[in-house]
Amino acid sequence: MVRKMTKVAIIYDDIYLEHRPEELDPTHPERKERLICTMDIIKKEKLIERGIVDVVKPRMANEEEILRVHDKKYFESLKDLDKVGGYVDPDTPAPRGFLKCALFSAGGAIVAGELVVKGEYSRAFALIRPPGHHAGPNRGAGFCYVNNIAIMIEHIRSKWNVKKVAIIDWDAHFGDGTYDIYSGDPNTLYISIHQDPSTAYPGRGFIHEIGEGEAKGTKVCIPVPPGTSDNEYMMIFNEVIEPIIHWFKPDFIAISAGQDCHFSDPITELGVTARGCGEMMRRSVEIAKRVCNGKVAVVLEGGYSVNAGLPYANLAVILALAELDISHVVEPNEVYEKYGWKRRDNSTKVSRIIKKVKEMISNYIELS
Ligand SMILES: [Zn+2]
Repeated sequence: MVRKMTKVAIIYDDIYLEHRPEELDPTHPERKERLICTMDIIKKEKLIERGIVDVVKPRMANEEEILRVHDKKYFESLKDLDKVGGYVDPDTPAPRGFLKCALFSAGGAIVAGELVVKGEYSRAFALIRPPGHHAGPNRGAGFCYVNNIAIMIEHIRSKWNVKKVAIIDWDAHFGDGTYDIYSGDPNTLYISIHQDPSTAYPGRGFIHEIGEGEAKGTKVCIPVPPGTSDNEYMMIFNEVIEPIIHWFKPDFIAISAGQDCHFSDPITELGVTARGCGEMMRRSVEIAKRVCNGKVAVVLEGGYSVNAGLPYANLAVILALAELDISHVVEPNEVYEKYGWKRRDNSTKVSRIIKKVKEMISNYIELS
């Protein structure tokens, strides 16, 4: 039997290469090569010619779309900064004219969400920069200016009958901006696997952070120790993510795919492989097929190993979205030789963490 493939929309434009935080900070890791190397691998693998991928152009998000998520005062401060240049926070340079790319990035996420909710594609991947998940209602931080995934979600909620949304965030860093936007919203499930915040930016995302008021239990933080790899991430999918999403029954699944969990990433200490990122996407698609007709919109967050990890991880994610085999996606041998030591067996520690996470949310939600 020939396995049915699902075509994937990649939202991309060279406009994303114009964002240049390195103008103010020459060694800044959020660089255009992140997307150049991914587009190169898409071309090398002939994903477009093989009918696996369509590249769809983004548009700019407009002010109304931004203000569904961010305070007007904050957005005005970004517009002021755009004219003169400066810093949003010490990690987040804002060179003059930066806002255009930030708005195209949010607009790319919007296009991804729209294509999926309208049924034009079941799967879409916004291959965008700058990233968004550290941007909160009234602040930018951690290379992020506006929160792309939240802007996407609020856009589709405003136009279509989408109420309950589940966000899975596997970026190595806790998405504190997304958490803060949705901390009191019981209709948005936010599940984040990230490097233990006592060892990583932004220093938040501990197990006890479960949301506020009537939303308690719908925010799930799963901090993992340095070196944690594919096996432990799959344990988390089996024991936490899958049962919670089945309980929650979302209308739509949105993914903050940050490939800085890859073992070669220069600014983090996790141990996930490219294929591991693909496996997380494969599992997310499987869950989506059971709960929301397979509809998944993916937004790129971090990932700074521009040619050793990120393009391979993105390739695995795209193939998994298309429901194609990912077993052949491997990083070059030299990547393992150089960085393989970062991977550890943390299964005992992660079992304990899973137990604590379940205890923390068990008063609020029912896990089968
Ligand atoms: Zn990150």
